[in-house]
Amino acid sequence: MTKTHNVTFIKGDGIGPEVTEATRRIIDASGVRIDWEECMAGAEVFKMGQPTGVPQETIDSLLRNKIALKGPLETPVGFGEKSANVTLRKLFETYANIRPIREFPGVPTPYKGRRIDFVIVRENVEDLYAGDEYMQTPGTAQTLKLITRKGCEKIVRMAFEYARSEGRQTVHCATKANIMKFSEGLMKHTFEDIATEYPDINAQHIIVDNCAHQLVRFPEKFDVIVTTNMNGDILSDLGSGLIGGLGFAPGANLGNDIAIFEAVHGSAPKYAGKNQINPTAVLLSGVMMLRYLHEFQAADRIEQALAVTLEQGHFTRDVKGSEGALSTTDFTHKIIDNLGKTSNFWPKRPHHPLKMPNVSKQPDLVRSPSKVVGFDLFVESSLMAHELGKSLEELVKDSPVKLKMISNRGVKVYPSPGTTPDVVDLWRCRLMATNGDQELSDDQIFKTLDLVRHKHRWMHLEKLSIFGDKLGYSKAQGED
Ligand code: NAP
Repeated sequence: MTKTHNVTFIKGDGIGPEVTEATRRIIDASGVRIDWEECMAGAEVFKMGQPTGVPQETIDSLLRNKIALKGPLETPVGFGEKSANVTLRKLFETYANIRPIREFPGVPTPYKGRRIDFVIVRENVEDLYAGDEYMQTPGTAQTLKLITRKGCEKIVRMAFEYARSEGRQTVHCATKANIMKFSEGLMKHTFEDIATEYPDINAQHIIVDNCAHQLVRFPEKFDVIVTTNMNGDILSDLGSGLIGGLGFAPGANLGNDIAIFEAVHGSAPKYAGKNQINPTAVLLSGVMMLRYLHEFQAADRIEQALAVTLEQGHFTRDVKGSEGALSTTDFTHKIIDNLGKTSNFWPKRPHHPLKMPNVSKQPDLVRSPSKVVGFDLFVESSLMAHELGKSLEELVKDSPVKLKMISNRGVKVYPSPGTTPDVVDLWRCRLMATNGDQELSDDQIFKTLDLVRHKHRWMHLEKLSIFGDKLGYSKAQGED
């Protein structure tokens, strides 16, 4: 007998209790020993007046057990402030979202027989999802896309380690580095650097839109795809669509210390309590959990029993429609009955313990040498570009900066390039130091601001830095 594992069990909302209970029963029947610690989160917690949706007892349980199996949590509309899912993800810094996409026997899809079998490793906490948003003017919204070297390093290492743990050969890194050269580019460069430490794995970069195209045309070509948060969100739902829908899409949220296993799908409230829903996605999340706990035999047994059940033609309503479909509980019993049988279809993969990336937990607070050479002042103004340009030139004429250009929605509009792009009332005014090689000081920036602020409403300011000989800012379309 193996050791007993303590696992925090969050049954979730809507269909959550049905799919997590099915999973618990199958895992218990597989012979592995788990002490399930039942904890609350989600709608019932919001209703009790807890605004995060996650009570302290649940946090304490996770801190103790370090591992959770979780049902979907609904984000209630009208009460509660935050998504309990996001609270859990951020509290425990589960930075890696792992989503396997695999063909299942008998499940009708346009890709039947193509043997789709890949894994998306999605960065889970940074990017546009950091939640730093601003209305710069009533008509212009801004979301900050924050990508860090440390965040990229963790997720890229995770992807390579995950590939090794499953004997996979290729890791693709999908980015939009051709357009967002700094943010998405940081992911690409980090990937290229770290790939050299994994010579046994074929590392390839792919532009994310091409990746989406290739996934639809040749999904069987992919093995592991590592990507930033927003790209991963979209690609992984695309992936679920390739193999029969959300009922078949498992997932894991892995952090340095804590791992939370849950399906991709939500609480599907219209099916709650109807005993119709497909428990496969949560069950396979449970299988991932067993492998994380090094319970490889039990994980294989369950996977094989599931495949045999599907091969026997047993399906829930999402595959079969209402005629002849099994209820959630009957489907669960069939899987339990099939424990110990082996599928003709489902190949066994080699599974090894996942080596968690060893990245320092210390804050990344290195101050690298850089020089401020100017600043972008974002101004809200109903003037036209040439009026604003002339006015700013006049205002800063005796200051240590000069107006290099004005852009609007990323396109240079002053000095006029001769074209007439559509413009809005938020202008980026690029003011560059005139003092040669010396750094522009904060005092000089404040003095310039003082000259401008009486006449123009400034919204925010970005310093323009140079790191060694590398520009730390992008140029506008049309800027020299
Ligand atoms: P959803 O709950 O995933 O359901 C959307 C549709 O997907 C369902 O109506 C159903 O399609 C299908 N589906 C989902 N799970 C299935 C399963 N196990 N078996 C078979 N089909 C399944 O998405 P939603 O309706 O947009 O979200 C509902 C709530 O869940 C929201 O409050 C949302 O915030 C929350 N949510 C939570 C999580 C999480 O906890 N990780 C994730 C996503 C959403 P058909 O209608 O075609 O049958």
